[in-house]
Amino acid sequence: MSATFDIAIVGGGLVGASLACVLGARGLRVAVVEALAPPVGAGPGYDDRSLALAYGSRRIFAGMGLWDALAPATTPIHRIHVSERGRFGVTRLDRDEEGVEALGYVVESREAGRVLLDRLRTLDTVEWICPAAPESLAVEDGSARVRVKEGAGVRTLRARLLVAADGAQSAVRTALDIPTRRWEYGQTAVLANVTPELAHGNVAYERFTEQGPLALLPLGPDRCALVWTRRDEEVSKVLGLDDRGFLAALQACFGDRLGRFVRVGARSAQPLALTLALEPVRPRVALIGNAAHTLHPVAGQGFNLGLRDAAVLGELIGGACARGDDPGAPAVLDAYARWRRRDQRRTALFTDALARVFALPLPPVAAARNAGLLALDLCPPARHWLARRTMGIAGRLPRLARGLPL
Ligand SMILES: Cc1cc2nc3c(=O)[nH]c(=O)nc-3n(C[C@H](O)[C@H](O)[C@H](O)COP(=O)(O)OP(=O)(O)OC[C@H]3O[C@@H](n4cnc5c(N)ncnc54)[C@H](O)[C@@H]3O)c2cc1C
Repeated sequence: MSATFDIAIVGGGLVGASLACVLGARGLRVAVVEALAPPVGAGPGYDDRSLALAYGSRRIFAGMGLWDALAPATTPIHRIHVSERGRFGVTRLDRDEEGVEALGYVVESREAGRVLLDRLRTLDTVEWICPAAPESLAVEDGSARVRVKEGAGVRTLRARLLVAADGAQSAVRTALDIPTRRWEYGQTAVLANVTPELAHGNVAYERFTEQGPLALLPLGPDRCALVWTRRDEEVSKVLGLDDRGFLAALQACFGDRLGRFVRVGARSAQPLALTLALEPVRPRVALIGNAAHTLHPVAGQGFNLGLRDAAVLGELIGGACARGDDPGAPAVLDAYARWRRRDQRRTALFTDALARVFALPLPPVAAARNAGLLALDLCPPARHWLARRTMGIAGRLPRLARGLPL
């Protein structure tokens, strides 16, 4: 069986599904090839994993017409509190200073996925092919050809552009031999949801410790999502702790700002590395999201960066199609690579620098960090710069991130 599309997207995670929503809404014929069937049965529970959405991502969702559906599932972040364990320097970012309703929003990944899939179901021109994965791909005469294994059968898809949105281990990137650079952190994120004794007050905490950064994000009325970076060699010990031991260790690291931690859910771990694809485009192929860049989760930037990839690529493809041009033409792909280079590099450097500088134990570095946090707190222009970067509204933005429809 063979079918022809304008765009074929491999990977229907949050970034691939977002691009499909943007393109499908413009009437383009889109195939999304996704390996995993969406979870069935159990609804949201205490342990669901979540994401911090930047303010700029809220604008993109609003431009896609999805914010109203997503908003009830989000917890707004009113303030961000950055500190370092054992030192007195802190920096505080505040929504009032930035003149916004919230600096960002925390949402369970499952809820974001549900909203995107609900929208895709309403778009006649988008075909969701799942569970399925590409067997082989080739670029030929003005199109990309993908042989897709779906159940017991194999289909051939032709598209004028193939988008790799298949995550950190991208099979498309590997099949095309696209080189990457990878830096290991020797750190693993321990993930869990916890309940503190005191109300979180819509504050997101980023606390740097000798083991790595610890983030606590406000989630719903009484939970916080914990992303606790630990050195690789400590992780099995942390995961082996019972609830009491885990909460005590967390308390020792985080302190008493939220009173005592009274509940913790299931724990999981995710090794961390920075991976950058050195070629974000190839003839008839573009990489977006984690397939193009996988970041350290400090400051919660990965999905937000990937969503901006999708918004830019959607804008360029939509523009080409509206002019009657080829959406996979070299000019479109070059424009995408040029536009995204700066944001991708800056965001990768920003998160990498935070993770590394705060991991250095040398006393002069620690003193400089502390002074830096204090100085930032006392200097409104510097705080404003940091807030705009964290909110995903710095630099050249696609129309959707400026609050404009495509
Ligand atoms: C601990 C941690 C905390 C984080 N917190 C935040 C945060 O607060 N805010 C934020 O913005 N980001 C955060 N991130 C980053 C964020 O999770 C990722 O950047 C984002 O999920 C990437 O989305 P994606 O769609 O590009 O990739 P993925 O989510 O990996 O999706 C890829 C999709 O492709 C599918 N797939 C894979 N291979 C194939 C194949 N061969 N064929 C077909 N389909 C395939 C997969 O099933 C999957 O659905 C965090 C990351 C970590 C590790």
